[in-house]
Amino acid sequence: METTRSDVLVLGGGVIGLSCALALLHRGASVRVLDRGEPGCGASHGNCGTLTPSHAIPLSVPDMPWRALHWMLRRDAPLYVNPHPDWERWRWLLGFARRCNAAAAERAAVVRAAILQRSWTLLPRVLVDEGIDCEYAPAGNLFVYRTAQALAHDRGEIEWLHRLGIAATPLRGDEVEALEPALLPGVVGGVLHPDDAQLRPDKLVDGLARRVRECGGVIETGAAVEGFRCADGRVAAVRTPRGEFIGGRIVLALGAWTPRVAALLDLHVPIQPGKGYSITMSRPELCPQRALVLHEPSVCVTAWGSGYRLGSTMEFSGYDAHLNRTRLDALRRGAAAYLRAPLGAQVHEEWWGWRPMCVDEIPLIGPVARWNNLLLASGHGMLGVSMSAATAELVATLVAGGQPLLDAAAYSPARFDL
Ligand SMILES: Cc1cc2nc3c(=O)[nH]c(=O)nc-3n(C[C@H](O)[C@H](O)[C@H](O)COP(=O)(O)OP(=O)(O)OC[C@H]3O[C@@H](n4cnc5c(N)ncnc54)[C@H](O)[C@@H]3O)c2cc1C
Repeated sequence: METTRSDVLVLGGGVIGLSCALALLHRGASVRVLDRGEPGCGASHGNCGTLTPSHAIPLSVPDMPWRALHWMLRRDAPLYVNPHPDWERWRWLLGFARRCNAAAAERAAVVRAAILQRSWTLLPRVLVDEGIDCEYAPAGNLFVYRTAQALAHDRGEIEWLHRLGIAATPLRGDEVEALEPALLPGVVGGVLHPDDAQLRPDKLVDGLARRVRECGGVIETGAAVEGFRCADGRVAAVRTPRGEFIGGRIVLALGAWTPRVAALLDLHVPIQPGKGYSITMSRPELCPQRALVLHEPSVCVTAWGSGYRLGSTMEFSGYDAHLNRTRLDALRRGAAAYLRAPLGAQVHEEWWGWRPMCVDEIPLIGPVARWNNLLLASGHGMLGVSMSAATAELVATLVAGGQPLLDAAAYSPARFDL
């Protein structure tokens, strides 16, 4: 069997793996990316493409368990937990519920804000420097509310975001409707996040993959990681159907698949797949001018020059790989209640993807204690695109032995004894 060696092997060719690969190549390392499919075929393909420092506040706020229980009764609710017994899933959910308190949420928000803001600064520069055209637009993000109760509930978060240094402007219903003529009347209020941005995520991963190859990196497709050969506290080789690969350092960036592959190395990684859906269409005749979050049904609307996408919903049903039509149709119904022209004439794609949800909603980035040449770069949950550039910078700095700008300890897998 052929054995191929690189300075760094990156396992997983999603937005995180490819961003890391490119940053490592720029530091002079030889890099090989292994993906079981084509680059960008996982969650990085059909997501909503919003870059959102505004999402720094985690889901695990104190009242989340009650809201989640209420939603569990509806199969088309924004959050759905499959009640089928699955020990790993329920252990994760209990861990998540334990973190639904003010102190943990405050800590997570600070750490998330730091990586989101660093990425927000870096990513536009990366796109220019690398010549990646992915319809990037710093157009802002508008949260839209149609019930006074939901608006009142979220108003407290504006002050919280301000404390984190993130812009958020409360708006009255008439101001929201004037800003976005695509909305139907009946809006009670909104929050504008003027610094958020958007891009087309499939074009981002195509551009990253192209640049990885142009910079001398190799992307092995159809190279599913099936096992490892370990010796002397190191991962000596990675086994795939395409042969064995050797890396001086190994970066494990397998998104929601991370826990399954990490288990082969005796690592228990607290990530569960959080399934989300999207529908990509041609642009309707009246499109929103910026990304919208339709708050009550929790639907994200992103319009690019090349198309239009409705996305979101969160489903914890393990590695169940089927497209749930009830949940997909909830996106259409949600949009129809808010938008004058909610659907485009042609459907380009109906899609689902697994978000890599880390139990504390902070990505796992950095070396693990058990294997001295292995790093994790995973668990970015709902924010992998938004956090990608700073993740890559952190990984490349750690591999080079430099001093990271971010507080590396805050993202370190060591917080889970990994
Ligand atoms: C509906 C939806 C909307 C979203 N909207 C946004 C948004 O607006 N903004 C934002 O920032 N984030 C958003 N996200 C989250 C974002 O998509 C993810 O956080 C991000 O894509 C994770 O990237 P990744 O590279 O870690 O994982 P992935 O993109 O899933 O990549 C993992 C890769 O590993 C490969 N792989 C798996 N197993 C193996 C194996 N055994 N061997 C080799 N390769 C393997 C897969 O083929 C895949 O290519 C959204 C997600 C969803 C589902």
